[in-house]
Amino acid sequence: MTSDAGILVVGDDEGLRLTLGTTLGDAGLEVRAVGDAAAMRQALSGWCPDLMLLDMKLPDADGVRVLQELKASAAWRDFPVVMISARTPDEMTELALGLGAADVIRKPFRPRELLARVQAQLRAHALLRTAQGALQSLQDEMLHVREDSENRRKLVDILHEVTGDLSSDEIYHILSRRVARALSLSRCSVILASPGERVGVVATAFDNPALRNYEINLDAYPEIRAALEHGHPVLVEDLHTSPLYEDLRKEWAVNGTQVPIRSVIALPFTLGKVQAGVFFLRRMLDEPPLTNEDVEFADSVIKGAVAAIHRAQLIETTKADNARLEVLAHTDPLTQVLNRRALTVRLASEMERARRYDSVITLLMVDLDHFKLVNDMHGHLVGDEVLREMAAMLQDEVRSVDVVARYGGEEFVVVLPETSLLGATTFAERIREYVEAKLFAATQGEPVRLTASIGVSSYPSTTVQSVDDLFARADEALYRAKADGRNKVCL
Ligand code: GH3
Ligand code: MG
Ligand code: MG
Repeated sequence: MTSDAGILVVGDDEGLRLTLGTTLGDAGLEVRAVGDAAAMRQALSGWCPDLMLLDMKLPDADGVRVLQELKASAAWRDFPVVMISARTPDEMTELALGLGAADVIRKPFRPRELLARVQAQLRAHALLRTAQGALQSLQDEMLHVREDSENRRKLVDILHEVTGDLSSDEIYHILSRRVARALSLSRCSVILASPGERVGVVATAFDNPALRNYEINLDAYPEIRAALEHGHPVLVEDLHTSPLYEDLRKEWAVNGTQVPIRSVIALPFTLGKVQAGVFFLRRMLDEPPLTNEDVEFADSVIKGAVAAIHRAQLIETTKADNARLEVLAHTDPLTQVLNRRALTVRLASEMERARRYDSVITLLMVDLDHFKLVNDMHGHLVGDEVLREMAAMLQDEVRSVDVVARYGGEEFVVVLPETSLLGATTFAERIREYVEAKLFAATQGEPVRLTASIGVSSYPSTTVQSVDDLFARADEALYRAKADGRNKVCL
């Protein structure tokens, strides 16, 4: 450890320089000597010795000042300086040590003792440097890890944000671009393929967007096939020496193919449980080779991101499913208007609102006349079509705040919030006329002609205090319309 170490001796005492030169030189140390502080600065500007022996008394400066100056500079703060002095008072020794001198040796000294002290300092310093090195690499590593997780977090954030709107193609593109950027790759693509397949499809190519959807023959990419087969990342540090490429290299030789690629990584990824393809990372001959650390980094980024995509897709699917179920639960499957259950819920809240704001709501109960005959004469399918067209017609006629619902077989309910009995009666009359004039199921053979009877009730009124009252009064009015010969609107 101490051999080959460099020692700078600073002092103008000729005898001292000679003794030190011999003693230290014999111990295998490289000794250089300079006479004053100026020469010392000069020497240190071009050389980095392992230790300095500094005389307290220099012709051009105070040794303690020089020490202080060195210790104040970041570059030389940890540099061991052993002070040498004649007749030093104890305060001076303490001062020098206090300022950061590694040791203070008094003149006259015994050469062996000096050598022992110098070697002790060199050992201590070497230890310090090792520890600092370890600390530094630990810090670097932590920084790296932080950057990694930072990168991943950002990536996952972005993906969470965008996956809802992006196609998988676009997601692959973002991913490959991010991985390429993080690893300073000029080439990164996503190849979609399954284990055992001979053809892959380029989903995205960061380096060459024109390759998108391009089919590649996987025979020429042994690392992709291996990665798909085993489900592990495959690193080929050098295509030109790797055994994996032995057969292909022979082909290249025969065909005179020049391959400018140096390293490749094929990183398989799955979506759900399905092996979906590989991320394909490449470095050219004039770029540094890809390493296992690159594999680890890219793998963790991609795994995290792909899991995020999958989660996001699942969430989206679940949300969409829930929304669909919600709609289904409220909708009459034949006519696509609200079903009776949903109508009841909706009417309760409309009633509550009318109560709170002192406003009016009106309910129409619309029943097709002799609908049984439609089924009997035209068949059930035509009957269904008539019901669909009836619902669509009602839906077309109402305002957006109004509610159309299928109440029973051929009975519909229309709720008109903030509409007086008079307004609602006019509306009901219009509906009655429409039905009377309409040719139902015209596309299915002979058109069906129909009429409808409509009962109207409204809130508030002396006999309507609740939703049930509203239904009951409308039902009674409808019964009157039927009894009165049908094709009528009754209050
Ligand atoms: P009224 O004028 O007294 O209302 O006579 P109507 O025949 O319309 O009344 P009724 O209640 O006697 O018969 C209703 C018919 O509606 C009976 C049933 O077959 C038919 N219906 C109920 N739901 C459906 C359906 O979803 N599709 C079809 N095609 N017919 C239905
Ligand atoms: Mg009927
Ligand atoms: Mg009926």
